[in-house]
Amino acid sequence: DGLIWLDGEMVPWREAKTHVLTHTLHYGLGCFEGVRAYNTANGPAIFRLKEHTDRLFNSAHILNMKMPFSKDVINEAQRAAVRENNLDEAYLRPMVFLGSEGMGLRADNLQVHVMVAAWSWPSYMSPEAKELGIKVRTSSYTRHHVNITMCKAKANGNYINSMLALNEAISGGAEEALLLDNEGYVAEGSGENIFIVRNGELHTPELTSCLAGITRATIIDFAKDLGLVVKERRITRDEVYIAEEAFFTGTAAEVLPIRELDGRQIGEGKRGPITEKLQGMYFDAVKGKLAA
Ligand code: PLP
Repeated sequence: DGLIWLDGEMVPWREAKTHVLTHTLHYGLGCFEGVRAYNTANGPAIFRLKEHTDRLFNSAHILNMKMPFSKDVINEAQRAAVRENNLDEAYLRPMVFLGSEGMGLRADNLQVHVMVAAWSWPSYMSPEAKELGIKVRTSSYTRHHVNITMCKAKANGNYINSMLALNEAISGGAEEALLLDNEGYVAEGSGENIFIVRNGELHTPELTSCLAGITRATIIDFAKDLGLVVKERRITRDEVYIAEEAFFTGTAAEVLPIRELDGRQIGEGKRGPITEKLQGMYFDAVKGKLAA
């Protein structure tokens, strides 16, 4: 139940449908966002709304899809999706997709549709994951950094390797996957950016093979506020094994410690002090307790 914003109108959940010949369903050209609203002292607030909307518009532009609505309209659609569904803590899924007027790879003559759905998603990470972290496995699937849409666009078609990697990790007894780029350097998780702590400094892969994560940018700002040295550089898998701490960041994952990679314990095998500090700052920020 509930309402979904579709092409400028709020429609009942069950009626928010698309045809089986929807072009994006066949060829995957489309883009989306994962956004979150948190319950703050001033009521529900969408964290980093502007940044997510900007990235959605950049994604569409990179994919050469002409957005039929302004950023203001899409911002308001997201606020309305939270408000009109009476949600306090929500996950929001805006998506831009092509219509069903034609098949074939030519896409410039198709209608561009936009939808925003929101559903209840309390901010809750299991105490085990939050404090002890998760087990991760390096994936046999890679990130293609040669693909220009990889780091700036959250494009539907970029998620095939992410999904294969996550399934592979789970069937191998881990909770999340680490994808390398085509040269073997660390790229990112299936839906998260990665950070490591080395010699008390924070290191994260540069934006050549991973999505320009909004949580990543937030954490870099917080780390700089704390006076930490932050380096964006190529990281090898070995460096993760011998890191003092490692964690993932993402709208869904928030700040998630990594306790093990490929059966090797990382640091103390639980959340380290720098991760704990940044995780605390992140939870305060999303709840509106920290100017961010
Ligand atoms: N990397 C990938 C592949 C993702 O799908 C996501 C999730 O959006 C992220 C990283 C983290 O990005 P953000 O912090 O903007 O949610």
